[in-house]
Amino acid sequence: MKEESLKNTKTDKNPYSYNGDVVNLPPHLTAQNGDGSTSQLTDSEEEIQKKPHNKKVYIESYGCQMNFSDSEIVASILDQEGYKITENFENANLVLVNTCSIREKAEQTVRKRLELFNRLKRNNKDLKIGVLGCMAERLKHKFLEEEKMVDLVVGPDAYRDIPNLLREAEAERDAVNVILSKEETYGDIAPVRTSSNGVSGFVTITRGCDNMCTFCVVPFTRGRERSRDPKSILEEIAQMAECGYKEVTLLGQNVDSYLWYGGGLKKDFSKANPLQQKTAVNFAMLLDLVANAQPKMRIRFSTSNPQDMSLDVIRAMAKFNNICKHVHLPVQSGSNLILRKMNRQHTREQYFELINNIRKIIPRCGISHDMITGFPSETEQDHQDTLTLMEQVKYDFGFMFAYSERPGTLAAKKIKDDIPESTKKRRLQEIIDLQRIHSEYRTRQYIGKTVCILIEKSSKRSSDFWSGRTSQNTVAVFPKENYKVGDFVDVKIEKVTSATLIGNVIGISSSI
Ligand code: SF4
Repeated sequence: MKEESLKNTKTDKNPYSYNGDVVNLPPHLTAQNGDGSTSQLTDSEEEIQKKPHNKKVYIESYGCQMNFSDSEIVASILDQEGYKITENFENANLVLVNTCSIREKAEQTVRKRLELFNRLKRNNKDLKIGVLGCMAERLKHKFLEEEKMVDLVVGPDAYRDIPNLLREAEAERDAVNVILSKEETYGDIAPVRTSSNGVSGFVTITRGCDNMCTFCVVPFTRGRERSRDPKSILEEIAQMAECGYKEVTLLGQNVDSYLWYGGGLKKDFSKANPLQQKTAVNFAMLLDLVANAQPKMRIRFSTSNPQDMSLDVIRAMAKFNNICKHVHLPVQSGSNLILRKMNRQHTREQYFELINNIRKIIPRCGISHDMITGFPSETEQDHQDTLTLMEQVKYDFGFMFAYSERPGTLAAKKIKDDIPESTKKRRLQEIIDLQRIHSEYRTRQYIGKTVCILIEKSSKRSSDFWSGRTSQNTVAVFPKENYKVGDFVDVKIEKVTSATLIGNVIGISSSI
């Protein structure tokens, strides 16, 4: 849940579409070798080969990284149905919008896009339009029946059903599947990594959330928490390493809560048999497995929740050089009163204790946050508590937003949204201003130091500069010289802004 940030991320202003008209498929989906010869194919690859790729799908994704990651799974499923990705929706046979319900604004943006796509039907009667993700789950039949905006509606756990739903839609029948699953993790589907730079990729390890924060739609739109088989996680990361990836981010709404005991919901772990319980793999163990298996890859993870982050996880981070020293640790408010109303499972004091442990075990660990201001009943004192919490932690960066009531959440049902918009806006600005001061305080610590950076892409400001990140997840830019994307380089930091380090490369790094 990241929306407003001093460090920009993808937002609803920046809808994502796949790059390039045709996707470069990972090796397991590719029939031809670079020299044009054909490799031995497995049965499933032969099956893929039989389907001509003569249809085009355009996918637009909104919201959190999980959604972008899910779109890659959908692209893989559709690839097997003979669809290739296009970035031009006017040429598409199928337009899919992977949606987010976290904020009202995101939903409004999606509706506007759906209206635009619907206008294309005037000239292209065969065009099918589908809505995926959290809005699909939340609004279900409304899209299909009342508003007649889309041909298919698919919830986050039903993507395997898309081929069937397409057939239903083509036969002019209702095509909707928003059933939430107890088991689905898409563990066996290798995503088509179209959103990636070929260097950093995402691997989903858990789905759903059991936490029931009162402001959040996730438990209702993405279902209960379940974890993915570590074997399939390790295999997917090994494939990424073979393809030249240098960094993997393990993804989940609540990664620290990861628990594999043979499948099933996290909440049912107590009913598992003694052998399952004894051989279960938790998040610290998974980190250990991944870090050991891929010593030359950087490992990141997101998102952590304070009550689930164990000392073992922090120790695993300290033990392995290749686990990045950054924790994204949403707190949402500095007031115990508000935390209770949010149904957060931690107090301000417990949060400080965790921060102290992180700093004790990993002295220079990057720490970032999510913060909501203007939650119902938030007083000036509660707001001050948030500011003093920020002052104590001095986060490296954060994602901050004003509370927006989401239909279906526990807060919407039980607590009146009673803070005037002007107050929310003012408090948000105060929080953002304070974060800017802290971000600059943190970046200034880097001046004169040499840090290892993984080169990811050209800098947005200048094509003569590379952009990459430190282990702590701070962005650095520096002249390109003869280095290339995917190199680990040592960069001496000369100057900084509140969000960016600026320096010069000393040479290839021996660290990662
Ligand atoms: S931890 Fe809370 S905010 Fe995060 S996904 Fe779960 S319910 Fe939503």
